[in-house]
Amino acid sequence: MTAPKPSELAYVPFVSVENMMKLVQKIGIETMLCELADYIEEDFRRWELFDKTPRVASHSKEGVIELMPTSDGEVYGFKYVNGHPSNTKEGLQTVTAFGLLAAVDTGYPVLLSEMTVLTAMRTAATSAMVAKHLAPKGAQTMAMIGNGAQSEFQALAMKAICGITHLRLYDIDAAATEKAMRNLADQGLHLTFCKSPEEAIEGAQIITTCTADKQYATILSDNMVGAGVHINAIGGDCPGKTELHKDILSRATVFVEYPPQTRIEGEIQQMPEDFPVTELWQVINGTAKGRVSDRQITLFDGVGFATEDFSALRYVRHRLKDTGLFQNLDMVADPDDPRDLFGMLQRSAN
Ligand code: NAD
Repeated sequence: MTAPKPSELAYVPFVSVENMMKLVQKIGIETMLCELADYIEEDFRRWELFDKTPRVASHSKEGVIELMPTSDGEVYGFKYVNGHPSNTKEGLQTVTAFGLLAAVDTGYPVLLSEMTVLTAMRTAATSAMVAKHLAPKGAQTMAMIGNGAQSEFQALAMKAICGITHLRLYDIDAAATEKAMRNLADQGLHLTFCKSPEEAIEGAQIITTCTADKQYATILSDNMVGAGVHINAIGGDCPGKTELHKDILSRATVFVEYPPQTRIEGEIQQMPEDFPVTELWQVINGTAKGRVSDRQITLFDGVGFATEDFSALRYVRHRLKDTGLFQNLDMVADPDDPRDLFGMLQRSAN
């Protein structure tokens, strides 16, 4: 392949929300969730290559705005994401995001993309990829507590990747459960509307908690969690925001993405600093044990880590080729003489 001309690098492919939706439809949502899970797993396998840092968070009383950077040495990526639980009351979403990839050797951006839809896809793909490693073999039923924006994606990823056939849904707001049931009606899952979290977890081998509330909430109390289940706790992802009673953590084997970030943001913020956790990348590459017994409670304390967004952007960049589902943005100044930025500006006045 011939190297791109400098002027070509000035135009950055941009994937709008509309084009992201077209890409998901073109590939098929379940196929895309499976392919994303493979990319995410592949990057966990080469974990040691990545620059890693807890995300940079700016908190306010309404929510949080975060930057999530990482690099594998060849490509650099970051995501901008917010989390504002009260936004839905104003008709706005709790989570919105966009992200960028850049070439490490020049620093020039190579992709800019919407990431609100993509975050829901990558979060679901991550949950299911982790459950594939940790959930009891043959798990068929999942309780889905919190039926907001992420929930249908979670359900479909668990179906496509782990073989879940039955979904038991509960939300504090029945309208959210009705919405999720409507959206999932023709997706090949057996759905049960539940009136309480206790009802939702009946017979479930996987319990997903994905609620949004900026407080120490107790979505699951200790007596609700029986032996042998896998908990996919992904809603508590900020300091001061958790979903599980801490006694559950003491009984479970806890798996995390990146301990320095999860200790600040995850369920384990309720535990002492030296509370033992297993790092996912080690389970994936076989250097740490995952589930070792039928009665063990495995808990994925998922907060979302930068490498997952990097994997998702890497996937989109790859899958975008030959689709035309992007616009070229005039995003990088490109003077004929690289040192004559001012001259370029002057000439633009004529
Ligand atoms: P959302 O606001 O669309 O939905 C949240 C749902 O939780 C709402 O329907 C709400 O009624 C429900 N809820 C609140 N309190 C509840 C309770 N006590 N019991 C049952 N349901 C309750 O939000 P979303 O986009 O679906 O995100 C949910 C959470 O997941 C947020 O906290 C978000 O920050 C987090 N999240 C985590 C990751 C990750 O990678 N771990 C990624 C995306 C979002």
